[in-house]
Amino acid sequence: MILYNTLGQKKMEFVPHEGNKVNMYTCGPTVYHYAHIGNLRTYIMEDVLEKYLRYAGYDVTRVMNITDVGHLTSDADTGDDKMVQGAKREHKTVMEIAKFYTDAFFEDCRKLNIKTPDVVEPATNCIDDFINMVSVLIEKGYAYLAGGNVYFDTSKLDDYYVFGNINADDLEVGVREDVTGDENKRNKTDFVLWFTKSKFEDQALKWDSPWGTGYPGWHIECSSISIKHLGEYLDIHCGGVDNAFPHHTNEIAQSEAFLGHKWCNYWFHVLHLNDARGKMSKSKGEFLTVSLLEKNGYDPLVYRMFCLQSHYRKPLTFSYDSLDNTAKAYDKLVKRISSLKPEGEPELDRAEPYDKSFREALDNDLNTSLGLTAVYDVLKSDLSDSTKRYLIERFDEVLSLGLCDAKTETKGSIDSEIEALIAKRQEARANKDWATADKIRDELASMHVKLIDTPDGIKFEITE
Ligand code: AMP
Ligand code: ZN
Repeated sequence: MILYNTLGQKKMEFVPHEGNKVNMYTCGPTVYHYAHIGNLRTYIMEDVLEKYLRYAGYDVTRVMNITDVGHLTSDADTGDDKMVQGAKREHKTVMEIAKFYTDAFFEDCRKLNIKTPDVVEPATNCIDDFINMVSVLIEKGYAYLAGGNVYFDTSKLDDYYVFGNINADDLEVGVREDVTGDENKRNKTDFVLWFTKSKFEDQALKWDSPWGTGYPGWHIECSSISIKHLGEYLDIHCGGVDNAFPHHTNEIAQSEAFLGHKWCNYWFHVLHLNDARGKMSKSKGEFLTVSLLEKNGYDPLVYRMFCLQSHYRKPLTFSYDSLDNTAKAYDKLVKRISSLKPEGEPELDRAEPYDKSFREALDNDLNTSLGLTAVYDVLKSDLSDSTKRYLIERFDEVLSLGLCDAKTETKGSIDSEIEALIAKRQEARANKDWATADKIRDELASMHVKLIDTPDGIKFEITE
């Protein structure tokens, strides 16, 4: 598989450290508010990556943190802790907020067919691990104490900007919001590993540490949780592109200083979802959520398809007009698939070239829109219905659009099921098989189907 690697800034062949085992880490949500559909674009594309790696035969272990402490409103270590902000906004405790929005996040994921990672670890579970990592960094001379906080000293590294010429806009995002410099820092790029001072009075959750009562910085949690569960060598680390700097850059700095060797080989970044106002962001106030899409009549899987129609490395602009086009395409696609009449065994040898073109699409830097084209190619082909269904079920292990699920039955497919039952009942009546005819009549009644005799034959309507 070829993947674009932010480390090196080019497409590279994906080769894990050890045989077919893949260690994958994903930055999880900061649970102070609902996830917006921009965040979920990132999680959808990461889900496709994980599922495709499995499809391609890799044995994947995926870990994700839940940021429930330490993420300040500015990534440059100033401002409030976002969790404290959320708690104030809703007059609840930080842990109540964390629980509520963690559950809400996984509920959104469920609706979008995003698989839960093998390990999900809230940062507040791992304070001892963070303290251990910070202690080692101090011992090794990579960290210093100043003004009560512990900082990572970026001047100790030969190459701090590992991702090279990061796009200027992303750098802007990295140090978003008004940043007043922290005079304790020896270098502008130094970052906090452990806070005891910084809006400390407001901090709800604090822990004892060798450097005083306080709380961890945001970056340390991802390094530490990844190393705790996946060991010293990480194959692939994912996140939205705004995380590349400073978050991932800092993760690399502290992990490699701690371990004494290279840590992670591949960095997978999903470009942003924008709306008319630019990058979708929780801090901008109003934002789009999965529940809002549902309230407006959209199946969340339509949004998943909307994301898959474009490449993860291109910014994507959301509008209801474009979502409407996807909704129509999705409905048509599901109807076409539900009208297949699979009988008999699939013809595996004839299926093979179609599977190959699906793999070629995803092997080429996760080209999901070509992956979708592969589904249409199957439908257009002269393969038997059972072969078509077999292939689409396989592709949907990765696409996860519910293409073959009964629960996504559209009105069209329900109609054809009813028509088939009516035809069977007519046939039974013609054969004077009253028992079967009555059984089908009862079945139709249980589906709220009312039969109407017309000169053109039997019609039906569904009553509530
Ligand atoms: P957060 O909950 O803010 O920590 O972000 C969760 C994930 O969403 C991170 O991987 C972010 O990089 C990503 N993200 C944030 N904003 C956007 C956006 N507008 N489009 C795509 N991904 C985003
Ligand atoms: Zn992270």
